[in-house]
Amino acid sequence: MPFNQQFITLNNGNKIPAIAIIGTGTRWYKEEETDATFSNSLVEQIVYALKLPGIIHIDAAEIYRTYPEVGKALSLTEKPRNEIFLTDKYSTQIKVSESPAVGLDIALKKMGTDYVDLYLLHSPFVSKETNGFTLEEAWKDMEQLYRSGKAKNIGVSNFAMKDLERILKVAEIRPQVNQIEFSPFLQNQTPGIYKFCQENDILLEAYSPLGPLQKRTTKDESLPFFEYVKELSEKYIKSEAQITLRWVTRRGVLPVTTSSKPQRISDAQNLFSFDLTDEEVNQITELGLEHEPLRLYWNKVYDKY
Ligand code: NDP
Repeated sequence: MPFNQQFITLNNGNKIPAIAIIGTGTRWYKEEETDATFSNSLVEQIVYALKLPGIIHIDAAEIYRTYPEVGKALSLTEKPRNEIFLTDKYSTQIKVSESPAVGLDIALKKMGTDYVDLYLLHSPFVSKETNGFTLEEAWKDMEQLYRSGKAKNIGVSNFAMKDLERILKVAEIRPQVNQIEFSPFLQNQTPGIYKFCQENDILLEAYSPLGPLQKRTTKDESLPFFEYVKELSEKYIKSEAQITLRWVTRRGVLPVTTSSKPQRISDAQNLFSFDLTDEEVNQITELGLEHEPLRLYWNKVYDKY
């Protein structure tokens, strides 16, 4: 099968691989970072991913407690650092380290690298009381990391329009990315966010893009959405996950996925060997919107939006 990788140009002119194939949160997430919780399985999946052709995009975060596994995989791989795109996130709602600058230094040390390709504020939930700084001050810290070269690109995650507006008011460097939950069953994590990011040239990244497949039950199989994805999967001889991820990319959004299964990881890295027609993209969009919203993360905070 031909390998065909695509890239997206960010608002600062830098390029980012159009899919992150190995998220190190969700199924790999753990509450403690100890020898006992070290996941050899995660190391194996990352090492596997790093053997695939092209630039490999890894999605990490302070709160996942999986830096040791990422570090181990980076130490084992033969892929040069400039063929690895490493995203990391500073934990905001739960305080793990003093500030983005302190957090990134610790992260770099644990992962054994000098820089990350993208550094995100994990959520907009930052306050003087919990964090010791405001959201605007956190962004200033991020800008310093960008200027120092420790973070090649900077951005945010789980930000609503009003949160981005606060940042944009003070930003000398605009956020390059907003990573949010996005799938056919959740096309706006918060009202208007999709359009706002497109209009402001902030790349949206989709975490949990396979939410509908993750949560599908046997009785869901006869729903028009799932029947249509299955039909496309047979038409293109691609997995249902590949059809769904391809739809995400056709919406101009960068999918962040993960798997414990090597085949699924390589399928995701080989996403651009086929395409959906405009009509098929629209049909998935419409069938997805007909379904009641499915939100897997941050329910407590976003259900009230
Ligand atoms: P996905 O929606 O891509 O789901 C991946 C999961 O779906 C895997 O556990 C996989 O299981 C399963 N899966 C894959 N294919 C299928 C299929 N055909 N049918 C059913 N299940 C399938 O992404 P995640 O929700 O896991 O999130 C991905 C990454 O996004 C995280 O690891 C993290 O890095 C990031 N993230 C960021 C958040 C944020 O707040 N910024 C919040 C949540 C996630 P299997 O292992 O069996 O293949």
